[in-house]
Amino acid sequence: MNKIIIAIDGYSSSGKSTMARDLAKRIGYVYVDSGAMYRAVTLYAIEHGMASAEKGVDTEALVKALPKINISFTPAGADGVQHTLLNGKDVEREIRDMQVSSLVSPVAVIPEVRHRLTALQQQYGREKGIVMDGRDIGTTVFPDAEMKVFVNASAEERARRRVKELTDKGEKVTYEEVLENIRERDHIDTTRKESPLRKAPDAVLLDNDNMTIAQQMQWLLDLYHSKCQE
Ligand code: C5P
Repeated sequence: MNKIIIAIDGYSSSGKSTMARDLAKRIGYVYVDSGAMYRAVTLYAIEHGMASAEKGVDTEALVKALPKINISFTPAGADGVQHTLLNGKDVEREIRDMQVSSLVSPVAVIPEVRHRLTALQQQYGREKGIVMDGRDIGTTVFPDAEMKVFVNASAEERARRRVKELTDKGEKVTYEEVLENIRERDHIDTTRKESPLRKAPDAVLLDNDNMTIAQQMQWLLDLYHSKCQE
């Protein structure tokens, strides 16, 4: 069967990453989490004093530092999870914390950051057989992707899922702060000038408020098989 490119975009915490990773595992494709790449750049900025809650993001310093930031992934483990490496160091845990979550969207508006990460993401897709999730995969990174999905769920449902995920990992967060962070990221992601979060005209909408994980997977597999036959 010919390999295709699968782009999964959508709002924060809509469950994109889990479904994209599970789908890749089921069909033997490579999975790339583009959000992890923006998160790794943000962690670098925080660790080097270029981003903080008080001062915001020092765009000039970060743009200058971009050539020094190397992002890669470990191969997927038995659970299908790849870890993100920032200059060779495993930062999978750090990039998911609330400090990074609250600064990642301001970092992701910087055009130079987007250009660099987009080029890297396009390299991953050269041989097809890839599932990538993010905000602009079907619109900017792979506008010609054979299969595009746009995932949506209400902000409240997404906040509930995210609180569970963070609490399960031992982080102490409140529903209110997570909901506020999700709403703020939605706002920044949809209103930025460069590659705003938008449903590509040829993307298929998946509203997963009331779907189980198993129903979602079947939905994705059906779509994948129909796209492979086109
Ligand atoms: O997917 P995740 O929530 O981990 O992404 C973190 C942030 O990275 C998003 O809120 C968004 O600001 C940014 N992002 C982006 N473009 C992508 C992926 C993520 O701007 N393709």
